Amino acid sequence: MLTIAVSKGRIYADALPLLKDAGIVPLDDPKTSRKLILKTNHDDIQLIIIRATDVPTFVEYGAADLGIAGKDVLLEHGADNLYEPLDLGIAKCRLMTAIPVGNPPIGRRIKVATKYVKSAQRYFASQGIQAEIIKLYGAMELAPLVGLADCIVDLVDTGNTLKANGLEPQSLIMEISSRLIVNKAAMKMKHAIIQPLIDQFERTLNLKQS
Ligand code: AMP
Repeated sequence: MLTIAVSKGRIYADALPLLKDAGIVPLDDPKTSRKLILKTNHDDIQLIIIRATDVPTFVEYGAADLGIAGKDVLLEHGADNLYEPLDLGIAKCRLMTAIPVGNPPIGRRIKVATKYVKSAQRYFASQGIQAEIIKLYGAMELAPLVGLADCIVDLVDTGNTLKANGLEPQSLIMEISSRLIVNKAAMKMKHAIIQPLIDQFERTLNLKQS
């Protein structure tokens, strides 16, 4: 059995065409089904539907052989026991700093609210800014509005979420996209199934680029 870990929503929607090109079609839709294990048109391939932040954990421990995870999540998780053979170029967005509209640019000592603690620490250190990082699990946009932080670090796609909350993007920290990740042991033990899949994903990506 080959198990592929994917998160619901944006990543799942963008991954479906890639999986289809590789001949893998799920038999259920996570939007309408509550199943956490989705069978596919192959008896020996299944998808598991989990939170984006849990994808590297399932793959690291070998509970899933492969996974599709955002670079944002991978940077926070660390990469033990994982290979990251492909940038799938899906679920693209930007990791950015943002502040309330009209506020002066951030100073050299600031409070930052974010889920992305490691990436934020690394970024502000590289800029010589002394940042106190406050870890939040969601609704980061609220933090500067109620005086919890001067600035947030979050993913930005259209910018609508920031705008709706009176914030504006400032600095780009990193371009983000989803990556294929593979458990190191599975890569050896199931090489005969996994390598052709990676090759097929790569062919699809090359075709899209050309
Ligand atoms: P937007 O309003 O289009 O800029 O989207 C921003 C919101 O969607 C933020 O709350 C982000 O955390 C989330 N978001 C945007 N793009 C992604 C992505 N590729 N993966 C995960 N979350 C995302």
